[in-house]
Amino acid sequence: MKFRNFKMVDYVVYGSGCFDQLGEILAPRRVGDAPMIFFVDEYFQDKQAFLSRIPLQGKDKIVVIDVTDEPKTKTVDKIRDELQAEFGTVSGIIGIGGGSVMDMAKAVSLMMTNPGSSADYQGWDLVKFAGVYKVGIPTISGTGAEVSRTCVLTGPTRKLGMNSDFTPFDQIVLDPSLTSTVEANQRFYTAMDCFIHCVESLQGTYLNAFSKSYGEKAQELCEEIFLRKTTWDADADEKLMMASYAGGMSIAYSQVGVAHAVSYGLAYLLGTKHGIGNCIVFDKLEEFYPEGVVKFKEMVKKHNIEIPQGITRGLTDEQFDTMINVSLGMAPLWENALGKDWKEIMTRERLRKLYERL
Ligand code: NAD
Ligand code: ZN
Repeated sequence: MKFRNFKMVDYVVYGSGCFDQLGEILAPRRVGDAPMIFFVDEYFQDKQAFLSRIPLQGKDKIVVIDVTDEPKTKTVDKIRDELQAEFGTVSGIIGIGGGSVMDMAKAVSLMMTNPGSSADYQGWDLVKFAGVYKVGIPTISGTGAEVSRTCVLTGPTRKLGMNSDFTPFDQIVLDPSLTSTVEANQRFYTAMDCFIHCVESLQGTYLNAFSKSYGEKAQELCEEIFLRKTTWDADADEKLMMASYAGGMSIAYSQVGVAHAVSYGLAYLLGTKHGIGNCIVFDKLEEFYPEGVVKFKEMVKKHNIEIPQGITRGLTDEQFDTMINVSLGMAPLWENALGKDWKEIMTRERLRKLYERL
């Protein structure tokens, strides 16, 4: 048995309003006059009160990140090329936003020092050099991207992260007050990414006491917030931020499962976003995760959330095959979910039937 020795985030600051400490956190990380580059989710581009709190100095720059689509390798490469052309080198990249912006920040940080295209590094442990200093600041909770060792990118041939020990942030700033403006449906979809991480980790064959302790806590927090609380408040934002962190820590030492494996196929073919895609799939997974799906449906009902139906209707055989290929390519996810004999359990025919129900 070989145990994984995993790299974690170096520094964590937590608390409502802690964003205002960013200037002093960055100060010792500034290298000469090389700027800090702030990647900001497009939601904030016209929020002057928030933008004025970003501790800009000298040549520092704000780059607004378009989150219409999930991060693409070609966008990562383009932003890297532009930053290198304008500044040569930078002191650091700070990603302020959801999983999309945090992943973009991780990827561009790595590509500032690794040659070629980010598409060359989609996979496991392909990144050769540490990137520039990078900070993650979530403004919506659930993905666990703030703690993970990957940044998920859609490339020319696949959707796959740059998984490496160089990928985790050097610093994260967990300020739950930044999440208070997220719209209710979006908040639910991204939060359910966390809930699903917990179910898939806790029901998986890779489970161990490390993952279990984080996964149980995160799942309990999700249930408290979405099943027992009657109104959304600052306390809910705080708990959801910690659920996201703990859910991420849980899968760091285990793996996700069926919902993620199937939703990757949807994302690749149809561009379905991670949070909502996981919800669309998880809604139909009662045979794999009976208790989790019952709780999920209760939460959907209580919060009046619409889960899209019929999204694969009318697809061609070829399109179903593409999704099936992408999905079955995620071997560790299937092995975690179904065990070593997963290929006999999840046949192409069975997966096709599952896709047809979505
Ligand atoms: P997102 O980053 O795409 O953001 C969703 C929406 O919320 C956007 O419209 C954004 O503008 C808005 N938003 C963000 N903060 C807001 C705020 N404070 N107020 C109002 N609106 C706000 O969504 P997400 O679910 O956080 O992230 C999904 C992405 O994360 C996908 O690209 C997925 O691949 C990636 N992901 C990465 C990991 C990882 O470990 N690296 C894990 C899971 C998912
Ligand atoms: Zn996820």
